[in-house]
Amino acid sequence: MSDRPPRQLPVPQPIRDDGAGATDPGPRDVMRDLENPDMLVPPATDAGLLPNLKFSFSDTRMTLKHGGWSREITVRELPVSKTLAGVNMRLTPGGVRELHWHQQAEWSYMILGSARITAVDQDGRNFIADVGPGDLWYFPPGIPHSIQGLEEGCEFLLVFDDGSFSDLNTLSISDWFAHTPKEVLSANFGVPADAFNDIPREQVYIFQDKVPGSLESQRIQSPYGTIPLSFKHSLLAQKPFKTPGGSVRIVDSSNFPISKTVAAALVEIEPGGMRELHWHPNNDEWQYYLTGQGRMTVFAGSGAAATFDYRAGDVGYVPFAFGHYIQNTGSQTLWYLEVFKSDRFADVSLNQWMALTPRELVQNNLRVSPEFLDALRKEKWPVVKYPGYTEGVRHR
Ligand code: MN
Ligand code: MN
Repeated sequence: MSDRPPRQLPVPQPIRDDGAGATDPGPRDVMRDLENPDMLVPPATDAGLLPNLKFSFSDTRMTLKHGGWSREITVRELPVSKTLAGVNMRLTPGGVRELHWHQQAEWSYMILGSARITAVDQDGRNFIADVGPGDLWYFPPGIPHSIQGLEEGCEFLLVFDDGSFSDLNTLSISDWFAHTPKEVLSANFGVPADAFNDIPREQVYIFQDKVPGSLESQRIQSPYGTIPLSFKHSLLAQKPFKTPGGSVRIVDSSNFPISKTVAAALVEIEPGGMRELHWHPNNDEWQYYLTGQGRMTVFAGSGAAATFDYRAGDVGYVPFAFGHYIQNTGSQTLWYLEVFKSDRFADVSLNQWMALTPRELVQNNLRVSPEFLDALRKEKWPVVKYPGYTEGVRHR
C-alpha cells in the first residue's frame, strides 16, 4: 500500500451544461455516480420509459468453492434479459466444473488462461479439447460435459440460451448419485453397493483436482468415433473485419456449425471510436464488456431513449430491434461481446440504409443537406471513427 492519500476525484453534480438540475448534497454514493455520468447527467435527448439495461457482475453474489468461483446475471438480476443468461467463472489449476448437463445450450468465451473441456453425445461419440484465450465452446442442450482448469487456471464467460437459467440449478452427476438408492446404483453398474460408500452427499458443483496430463494421455477411443461437428471454435484467431475505428469478428452457425442457437460478435472499439447506429432484425442483444469503458443509448420508439455507461465486467442488453450505438468513452480500447439467441448474426446499419434509399426521400424526410447525403456510405462500417468529430463526448 502506498502512503499517499487516494487521488481526489472531483465530485460530479447532477447539473447539465444549460444549468438544469441542482447539486446533490447527499446521501449519495459518489463512486457509483462517477461510474454512471450519463445517468447522473443524462443527455438532453434521453426521455420516456425504458427498463434497466445494465447489470454488473460486481453486483452479484459469488459462489466460492475449493477449485474456483462463479457468479451469474440472469433474469433475476436483470429482468429484461429473457433470451440469455450469463455466468462468469474461474477455475484454479486443476479445478473442475463437475460432470453435468442442462436443458439449455451453453455458449462460452475463454477470457484468460486455459481449460480442458469434455463431452459425449447421444450416439456415444466423444469430444475432448483444450481451449485458450479467445476460444469458444458450444454444448447443445442436454449434452453432458465438464470443464477443468489447466496449468495457469482460467476465467471464462458462459452464456445460456434462456434468461431464467441458473448454473447452480443444473443436472449434476454427484447430485444424481446422491439421490439414487444405493441398491439401484449397484444394480445399474453391476458392482456391490459398498462401491458407493464414499460418494458425495450433495451436488459438488466445483472441486479441486490436480492438473490433468496431456490431452493425448486422457483421450478415450470411442467405438462410435468422435462428434461430427466440433464443440470448439477459435474466435480470436478469426481474421477480423477491420473498419475505421476498430474491428469485428462474427461467429454463428455459418462458421461454427454446432452453434445453432447462439450468434455473436467480438467487437473492438478504439479510443474516440464508436459502434455505429444500428439495430438487429433477429433478436435481443446481450452484451458483455471485456475491457475499457463506453456508453450506449437505446432508442425504443415513441420518443423514448435512455443512456447507460458500461465498463469491463458489465452486462448490457438491447431489446429486439431497438436502435443503439456504443461509444468508447475511455482512453483504452473497448472490447465487448454482442450475443444473440439466434442461428445467425444480423444487423442493419442506419448509415447504409439511408445511403441505399432514394436521396430525395431521405433529404425531405430529415431536412438534411446535400453534403450530408454525399457523406453516406453504401458499405457497412460497423465501427467508425472520424477524427475531429468526437467533441462533446465526456472522456473519463
Ligand atoms: Mn454447463
Ligand atoms: Mn448491436
